[in-house]
Amino acid sequence: MSEKVIFDADIAPLKDKVVSVIGYGNQGQAQARILRENGVDVIVGNVRDEYWDRALKDGFKVYEIDEAVRRSQVALLLVPDEVAPHVYRKKIEPEIGKKEHFVLDFASGYNIMYGFIRPRPNTDVVLVAPRMIGRGILSLHRQGRGYPVLIGVAQDSSGKAWDYAKAIAKGIGAIGLPGGIAVKSSFEEETLLDLLTEHSWAPLLIAAMQAYFDVVTEEYGASPEAAILELYASGELAEVARAMAEMGLFEQMKLHSRTSQYGQFTRARKFYRMVKEVVREEAAQIWSGEFAREWSLDQAFGRVVLQRLWKIVTSSRLAEAEDRLYRQLGRR
Ligand code: NDP
Repeated sequence: MSEKVIFDADIAPLKDKVVSVIGYGNQGQAQARILRENGVDVIVGNVRDEYWDRALKDGFKVYEIDEAVRRSQVALLLVPDEVAPHVYRKKIEPEIGKKEHFVLDFASGYNIMYGFIRPRPNTDVVLVAPRMIGRGILSLHRQGRGYPVLIGVAQDSSGKAWDYAKAIAKGIGAIGLPGGIAVKSSFEEETLLDLLTEHSWAPLLIAAMQAYFDVVTEEYGASPEAAILELYASGELAEVARAMAEMGLFEQMKLHSRTSQYGQFTRARKFYRMVKEVVREEAAQIWSGEFAREWSLDQAFGRVVLQRLWKIVTSSRLAEAEDRLYRQLGRR
């Protein structure tokens, strides 16, 4: 496969197969429903809880995870990344071991990149990673639109792994529709890009908002309500983000006033110099596996760091002011 971007593909590799969707959460629900609409024989594998009931209500045949794998030739592993290694070891690997060949699809590169899951040699290991939350996938699908995915192959046991990756991208409604695009990638590239978003501009946005809130309310007497509306509660930020997606990062700047353009461009240069080295360090920690080890350690200790950080942010002045405002706005 030489083309870097793909706009359509043949769904045929999935047509004579049973496809199990393992995990009926954000991604599982969206992907299972669209696959079924596209004529694929889909079953769901889940633990017996409310998601099991929801899949039944949506008209799927639902099985215990090992049973779903037993009944299928292709599985989409759509459980949270931190539980996937355990689910794979206990429920999936023993079943794949009994088969001649299997196709295992991931929606994120994490567990394969860091070796937390090491599939058997009889398995095609493919990546079809949506750049879209499950809810967004369904809403675009209702409008007859596709969405971007990164696709990759970590192990090609059949010689047809790329065809499976492309067929899955088509089956889950990513390509073959306006707005849809699959970019040839790898498990490593997807993980780097995904985690580096979470370790660079996304936390920078949170930190900048917190600093902004503290400075204007503590040092300039601004009202918390006005500050929070300015920061994100008005929805202006969402509109700017939409304009970035539709028009491009710099083209959308023409929608802002000249004062705003001047302020943003001059300050962006200052911040670029300040953050580039930090971004470089974060990328290196992701690439070397240092971050994955750090996060695995916190999980092994019962996620104490994550829980402590939740406590700190939810008891901040910003969170308290937001709660008051959102109650007044009827959003809580
Ligand atoms: P969710 O958190 O929505 O949950 C997925 C499913 O996993 C649920 O059915 C849940 O069932 C099940 N599950 C949770 N814990 C266990 C367990 N211990 N044993 C068995 N099943 C379990 O996951 P997402 O859809 O958010 O993520 C799935 C994959 O998609 C991940 O690889 C993620 O990186 C990727 N992805 C997610 C995106 C998103 O928008 N969220 C975007 C792009 C990719 P229950 O809770 O009922 O136990």
